[in-house]
Amino acid sequence: MKTVTVREIEVQVITRDEWDVISHEQKKQNAKKRNSSTFGHEPCKLCGQIISDKVLDTSWFVHMTTDGDLFPVAVELGDHEGSQGFFPIGASCAKRIAKEYKKKYEVK
Ligand SMILES: [Zn+2]
Repeated sequence: MKTVTVREIEVQVITRDEWDVISHEQKKQNAKKRNSSTFGHEPCKLCGQIISDKVLDTSWFVHMTTDGDLFPVAVELGDHEGSQGFFPIGASCAKRIAKEYKKKYEVK
């Protein structure tokens, strides 16, 4: 964990070194595991495995900064403050991300 200061609030973030535990080679293999033309097109931001379109709406999302850190979802971070936006992650990666750092969007 690393502490960053945003608008005078101290925020703990999960650094890339902490979440990025899968090798580049393994990520490339993960991306090939499923045929993206039939199952989905959105890779898990953390491991590269394609997330099925069927479950994308109910997937967990992480908030990543431009440094590659995971930002707590309850704290606002604007684009100009270093937000890269929210990205979906697969079910297995979601298991190792604490609940403060992932969220689901309401399915309508
Ligand atoms: Zn993953």
